[in-house]
Amino acid sequence: MPLLARRIGRAKPSAIMLVAEKAKQLKAEGRDIISFSIGVPNFLPGEHVYAAAREALAKDSGQYGSNRGSDALLDAFLKHIEQVGLSGYTRANCATGVGAKHVIYNICEALLDEGDGFAFATPYWTSYLDIAEILDADIQLLPCPSEQDYKLTPAQLDAALAKKPKVFLFNNPSNPTGMVYTKDEISALADVVARHPDTWVITDDIYNRMVFDGVGYHNFVHARPELRDRVIFIDSLSKTYGMPGWRVGFMAGPEVVAKAVTTMNSNHITNLPEVVTAAAVAALSGPQDIPQHKNAEFQAKRDQVMAVLAAIPGVVCPKPQGAFYAFPDISVAFGLRRAARAAHQLHLSDAAARSGITAFAGILRRTHLKPGWSPCAHSGC
Ligand code: PLP
Repeated sequence: MPLLARRIGRAKPSAIMLVAEKAKQLKAEGRDIISFSIGVPNFLPGEHVYAAAREALAKDSGQYGSNRGSDALLDAFLKHIEQVGLSGYTRANCATGVGAKHVIYNICEALLDEGDGFAFATPYWTSYLDIAEILDADIQLLPCPSEQDYKLTPAQLDAALAKKPKVFLFNNPSNPTGMVYTKDEISALADVVARHPDTWVITDDIYNRMVFDGVGYHNFVHARPELRDRVIFIDSLSKTYGMPGWRVGFMAGPEVVAKAVTTMNSNHITNLPEVVTAAAVAALSGPQDIPQHKNAEFQAKRDQVMAVLAAIPGVVCPKPQGAFYAFPDISVAFGLRRAARAAHQLHLSDAAARSGITAFAGILRRTHLKPGWSPCAHSGC
């Protein structure tokens, strides 16, 4: 039999999807399973979103659509990002895809040649590594342990960018840690980015509407507008609007990148379906009470989770200020006898179950802390 392409030898099924599938299967068998795998919002979009989809279905043209995304969708997205201070972009700066994962994949494909440097902080959303491996990028992990609140420091970033990676991927608010960078922290990192003009920056900010404690959402281009010609902002409907299965993701950034993503789309997906597009426009442009209400709810749940975690001896959990993840450092349990370790894990499961938090990730491997461990943090889809 002829061989598959070498790149497929590097591609792995998304680990997190495998865990999710396994959990689903065990649940179907009647087992009482709490899945700590994919980050699924525990709510559905508003009725106006379904109404828009039904209306679009009734008059569906059945035709191919725009490779970039329909004008109505791009305009709704542009208005949406203006609300978080990202103004001055035009349709030509934007592109859409089948979820943010697809958009990120397309962008990486567009920016990275084999062997190009690809830097990102760890703990990280597992797909970054999977995508980098498929593309045979030179992966540069920047360890951010709990002692530094899982956040990248300017000195770390400076050292990383001095190696001239082609792409630096930054995730804020973070999956899996829930960390959110303050305005000053973003500004300090933006100063570093500005000193290293050879690196593209992808800011995966899909949780930008899920920020607690008044920290606010900040992007490098807020701090340094001149970075707009290198910073690519990523957004998604999945989490903000409870629409993960509708598969709509976005980018806003340099025209040349948006054009590249559009070209990629023209060669694989062609376009987002009309019905999905109509629902997406309604979500972005319609009432925002559900996302706002959910954000307040997630903050309250965060407080419950933190209270339970605080009661577990030796477990450290930097306080999440966004998204819906907590990332307790349970390394205290490493090396304990099995029974003692199980007790720790039970506490953790109990905390998640009682809070009803959607996804709950823990450091089950010390990967990002100690070289030589498998580089994989758990969470998200
Ligand atoms: N980026 C991060 C940080 C995520 O957590 C996820 C999903 O969990 C994605 C991107 C992908 O989002 P989408 O559902 O739009 O593909």
